Amino acid sequence: MEPVTVIDGHIDTILTTKIRFYHKFESTPANMRAGNVQAAFYSLCPVNKPMLVTKFTEFWFSYVRSPRHGLMQVRSVDDFDRARKEGKIGAIMHYEGAGGIDDEFKRLEEGARQGLRGLCITWADTNKFGHGAKFKGEQSREGLTELGKELVARAQALGITVDVSHLNDPSFWDVVSAAKKPFIASHSDARAVCNHPRNLTDDQIKAVKEKGGTIGINFSVKFLDEGWKTTNGKGVTFATIKKHIDHIAGVAGVETVAIGSDYDGTKIPPCLQTPTSYPALFKYLGENGYSKHDLDKIGHGNLLRVFKATWA
Ligand SMILES: [Zn+2]
Repeated sequence: MEPVTVIDGHIDTILTTKIRFYHKFESTPANMRAGNVQAAFYSLCPVNKPMLVTKFTEFWFSYVRSPRHGLMQVRSVDDFDRARKEGKIGAIMHYEGAGGIDDEFKRLEEGARQGLRGLCITWADTNKFGHGAKFKGEQSREGLTELGKELVARAQALGITVDVSHLNDPSFWDVVSAAKKPFIASHSDARAVCNHPRNLTDDQIKAVKEKGGTIGINFSVKFLDEGWKTTNGKGVTFATIKKHIDHIAGVAGVETVAIGSDYDGTKIPPCLQTPTSYPALFKYLGENGYSKHDLDKIGHGNLLRVFKATWA
């Protein structure tokens, strides 16, 4: 099988470079190249204060522009080809949480000028725009604030893809009402397969599809398998990943499935230790019912479709 090109909807490499000095990097440019990763959302997190947005943005540019990383910022759909021709990996700017954006949306506009192309409204916290899904404990029953609904409209008007990953359920449904364009869940799995508040219910999966969006399969053991602790993640296999892909494709079609690995931000199962594992994953999926055409959609085609509809 010809290699499947990947656009990864979520990596935490920037965050990890900045704050976790002990970390052995998973999503290095060399590993990405070996796994045919063409581009990724390089998230800025946490950006819940204006000062952090400024600081992390500076760091983001210094990382992406450093010649030793071999990256090129992707601001438009045409940039994917430009990066490939130059032999570079595309870096897409993404905020994981919008708390640092002011009420007048000046910082959002500045972000758009800097090439911001994806926006999670919250992380696992609450901010003035809405409520995130807590990893544990009772969930808030409140959704987006009025300002949060306006944020959805403003972001979409500025060509920024709205991202519902990390939102709690009421906030998710408020995005559905406010969104005029497709939106994504950049890194979330199926709740019917693994019951975790970070994953999406079948009704939510259908709503993403109805708007033309995508759901990026998250490789975190916590979101893939409720029983991961019994094997410390070793029991999480390609078959577990396939269960989530099968489920989302069954509910909403293969055109709704994408990749959002969460590399460098979470505990990844041994079968997917770094992006060099992608060819083996796609080989497994190809041998178990998915055509090359399906795998190209999952790997990059579906996200590209959303970018064409939302970045303009
Ligand atoms: Zn996340």
